[in-house]
Amino acid sequence: MQRNEESIALHPKSSEAFARAQKSIPGGVNSPARAFGAVGGTPRFMVRGEGAHVIDLDGHRYIDYIGSWGPMILGHAHPDVLQAIGDTASRGTSFGAPTEAETRLAELIIAAVPSIEKVRLVNSGTEATMSAIRLARGFTGREKVVKFAGNYHGHVDSLLVAAGSSAATLSVPNSPGITQGAADNTIVLSYNDASAVCELFAQRGEEIAAVILEPVVGNMGCVIPDPSFLDVLRKETQAHESVLIYDEVMTGFRVAYGGAQSLQGIKPDLTTLGKIVGGGLPAAAYGGRAEIMDHILPAGPIFQAGTLSGNPLATAAGISMLEQLADPDVYLRLEALGNRLQQGLDRAAAKIPHSVARVGSMLTLFFNPEKVTNWAIAEACDLERFALYFHGMLRRGIYLPCSQYEAMFVSAAHTEEDIDQTIAAAADVFSEWG
Ligand SMILES: *Cc1c(COP(=O)(O)O)cnc(C)c1O
Repeated sequence: MQRNEESIALHPKSSEAFARAQKSIPGGVNSPARAFGAVGGTPRFMVRGEGAHVIDLDGHRYIDYIGSWGPMILGHAHPDVLQAIGDTASRGTSFGAPTEAETRLAELIIAAVPSIEKVRLVNSGTEATMSAIRLARGFTGREKVVKFAGNYHGHVDSLLVAAGSSAATLSVPNSPGITQGAADNTIVLSYNDASAVCELFAQRGEEIAAVILEPVVGNMGCVIPDPSFLDVLRKETQAHESVLIYDEVMTGFRVAYGGAQSLQGIKPDLTTLGKIVGGGLPAAAYGGRAEIMDHILPAGPIFQAGTLSGNPLATAAGISMLEQLADPDVYLRLEALGNRLQQGLDRAAAKIPHSVARVGSMLTLFFNPEKVTNWAIAEACDLERFALYFHGMLRRGIYLPCSQYEAMFVSAAHTEEDIDQTIAAAADVFSEWG
């Protein structure tokens, strides 16, 4: 309540906009993560982005660590991306017929991600994982899909099981409206538990169409996989002819140009991409071994389509983004900035039980002293502390993801000054805690 009153006093325009939005949009937002539900208070309505900064309706400027939840790795309103969108828009925004730009984006993706031989463009990460699961089932003729507790793969019915909140191993749907039938075909295991994977495949390997995972998790905060866990997944899926799907919607072009798989030296059968690949417009993709991808209509029998798939504007933004990210210096810069932020937050939080996890420019400060390796440990974080931290930072002009279970993203547009200002703000917040 106190947080709401404070929000209204400091942010009259955002508060008014939110009240108005709630009358016509369920909960006032078009995606629940935007609503500050986990931390309380009123979401800030944004009017502008400039590089690493965003400006809200009330004129407050923030250093932004959400970056639209991942896509804005080059910062907001990047001039080259805007130019590409503008040039394309002036020639028409959608044809429903093929364009050469779609092939160009496909070629860039294939060149970047070693396991992808062919790729289909879609409109959202959800659509990419949904399509990859259907393809894996159609290709193998099997129904069961294995996922890991705390991994999020979009709002696909069969994957909204233990997607960041419910207890592991039981196939309990995360949402009303998901049939038990959809949930029953999903088997949930604990992340980083290689022996559970071996046991499951020994018992039911012939039923398993696919294993899907975030190869570095972003959706329970940043959680890093054990190399041995990844090895077991690759070996067991290969031995039982199941499809290994890396959901790199968040990690693709984020942790490295070739995604997490390029850092880990593992080739999944299928990969899903989103967020960065659309350059801030709605585009996503799924791709992998040609032998599997050629089962998609019209090359094969498995149906998947989209009126706006490969949309010219989204494709142009994606191409511009990937062309710029092909420069390895971008990732060196992101690594240096990410490391500076990690070290600084770790120092600032020295007196508070915490741990920090980071891969490149993806980072989470967990209010849990134990290293977070799975959902059970993530769940034990002190969420009240996170909410205090979040609002303390927001007051100091630092815009963090509004949940303990979302990673912070650094962009190439952040400066060392931005990072140092963020660390100083955190030190100031924590000093108030005594
Ligand atoms: C964001 C995300 C999705 C869903 O993508 P949308 O574009 O929001 O549908 C799927 N998987 C992962 C790993 C994600 O981070």
